[in-house]
Amino acid sequence: MNSTTKRIIILGTAHGSNVPGKCSPDKKFREYQFSREVIGILKPRLEAAGYTVFVDMPEDVVPTPQVNELAKRCRFVNGICAKHGTQNCVYVSIHVNAAGSGGKWLDARGFAVYVARSCSATSKNLAKTFCELAVSRNLHGNRSIPGEHYWQANFYVLRETACPAVLTENLFQDNRDDVDFLTSPTGKEAIVKLHFDAINQVFGK
Ligand SMILES: [Zn+2]
Repeated sequence: MNSTTKRIIILGTAHGSNVPGKCSPDKKFREYQFSREVIGILKPRLEAAGYTVFVDMPEDVVPTPQVNELAKRCRFVNGICAKHGTQNCVYVSIHVNAAGSGGKWLDARGFAVYVARSCSATSKNLAKTFCELAVSRNLHGNRSIPGEHYWQANFYVLRETACPAVLTENLFQDNRDDVDFLTSPTGKEAIVKLHFDAINQVFGK
């Protein structure tokens, strides 16, 4: 990769239409669908800015049980890393948070970003950038923000992917105000723009 080639962005969809739960208490908002809609807007925008973009699992129906889904996502990402060079790739998995198990509306709201427990400096830098932009745009909600600006978790797709990787939790699907925002054109655009700007701020030079 020469200095004018931009990093390869691999976008991760959330779950699938055949995965139970992962929706608002009234079932009108579904995480798998929102994630794919955001990616549908974000991918051409990143491509127009000069990035090469892949989507790990664009189809709506995903393998079950979940371990098969997650393993297939990681095989896809690591295949691209093997072909194009791990240092040239970054994985961004796009989700929506939940405070409960989906049965009722709850209070927690706002953006959060995760990296693996042992991860690269690039992962941490991208996650921190996501958080700082989210805070500056008033998307961080009502939960505490860790001093590092990101959460560390043992998520399969963060742990098993070879390249730098972050997982974004874009507000809460069981918070009524967050769902109202996410289902508005303004809200969806805010999430798309947050991803575009964070990626571009770190990898755009
Ligand atoms: Zn999710």
